[in-house]
Amino acid sequence: MDSKSSPVEMFFFPYVGGGHQIPMVDIARIFAAHGAKSTIITSPKHARSFQQSINRNQQSGLPITIKTLHLPDDIEIPDTDMSATPRTDTSMLQEPLKSLLLDSRPDCIVHDMFHHWSADVINSMNIPRIVFNGNCCFSRCVLENVRKYKPHEKVSCDYEPFVVPGLPDKIELTSSQLPVCARQQEAGSVHKMFAKPEEKSFGIVVNSFYDLEPAYVEYFKQDLGNDKAWFVGPVSLCNSNIEDKAERGHKTSIDEGKILSFLDSKETNSVLYISFGSLARLAPEQLLEIAYGLEASNHSFIWVVGKIFQSPGTRKENGIEENWLPSGFEERMRESKRGLIIRGWAPQLLILEHAAVGGFMTHCGWNSTLESVSAGVPMVTWPITAEQFSNEKLISDVLKIGVKVGSVNWVSWSTEPSAAVGRDKVEVAVKRLMGTGEEAAEMRRRAGELGEKAKNAVEEGGSSFIDAEALLQELKSVSRI
Ligand code: UDP
Repeated sequence: MDSKSSPVEMFFFPYVGGGHQIPMVDIARIFAAHGAKSTIITSPKHARSFQQSINRNQQSGLPITIKTLHLPDDIEIPDTDMSATPRTDTSMLQEPLKSLLLDSRPDCIVHDMFHHWSADVINSMNIPRIVFNGNCCFSRCVLENVRKYKPHEKVSCDYEPFVVPGLPDKIELTSSQLPVCARQQEAGSVHKMFAKPEEKSFGIVVNSFYDLEPAYVEYFKQDLGNDKAWFVGPVSLCNSNIEDKAERGHKTSIDEGKILSFLDSKETNSVLYISFGSLARLAPEQLLEIAYGLEASNHSFIWVVGKIFQSPGTRKENGIEENWLPSGFEERMRESKRGLIIRGWAPQLLILEHAAVGGFMTHCGWNSTLESVSAGVPMVTWPITAEQFSNEKLISDVLKIGVKVGSVNWVSWSTEPSAAVGRDKVEVAVKRLMGTGEEAAEMRRRAGELGEKAKNAVEEGGSSFIDAEALLQELKSVSRI
């Protein structure tokens, strides 16, 4: 940077999967709105999913661009549509990234920790490096203290609850809910996954906001020694126009007008939204249980049936049709106008913020959790993998804005899924959340309050707004030394 008035130049290097790419693109927009010159670095294929919205941002005057890293013709990142898992190898981007950084030398680069090789490459260029890991503070504190105190080694079986020591609240988990690598004796690999890229970094940016988890932000900074952490979320709130919300992450699989007219015909808080994020593949048998549970609950719903796990020979058995629903289910839901099924990608932000939506059945992915909080919508929690079981604890036990469906077994991305939660549990949880009882009303009230706090955080003078400014100031002072 050569003059005092020139903007801070920030590069953003998102991962190539939905749940990590989507928030990083938003973070790039947020810093552009704060005056940084933001550049998003990605492969040509992955740029396609957000190119249009960045074009719109440029037209409205935001200093943001995309730079694509060119790969030789026969090389591609081995993901399918929005579904790179944390194990996907992106190292073919290493050389193109190096040469870009050599040419450009930005004031800093924000990179996703799932580009496992990127910390070393950026360090070797001596460019200030900021890590994005996609998680909240609470789950980091939980996993860190499990690693440190090993409470899971003092119980007699995988389903016996233990308290995670040292945390601001009494948080109980079972071994069955921990990532497999966190359960093992030598453990530490979850810790390494986070700690390694953060070593020698300038700091981390977190998609969360202070008022959501104040005790954990303090604990994370002071007790766990992460003082260089900036909380700039909820980042999804930077999507203010309808196109950006509708196209966020992917083109929707259904005309959004159809969704909105379905929702417009419903009473306030009467519709349950169901989605398991960008990656989860549910077993067909599990979809069947969800369908029966939803039907029995008698509540209206929008159900996003995303990826379905297909093992050979599961077709047309046990009353499961080829589309994995009970016979006649979709027709019954259509005729009674009770349910809308979306196969593929849904405009989640548009749905969550509609007044008719009163609950979200979620896999507790951090983005979905925070988007639900931002919209003031309480949840039915159904964690499956990653840090989702910790997120469930935050939602249900700390914030008290969720009903647990009763999912108790952590499963890895690579395991064949099963029907882990039966229809009765689905029905009970949906009725508890969507019903008219005192418990549901309280959860809704608390969720509404948090939604207001979320919006305040990103407005001028709010904690996330101030943190974004503070990071920019710090980068300015470093780059001008
Ligand atoms: N998402 C969406 N439409 C879909 C599925 C997912 O817009 O049909 C978005 C959702 O809003 C969120 C992200 O994809 O921003 C999913 O991230 P999350 O952390 O919840 O879960 P993951 O996909 O990483 O498991």
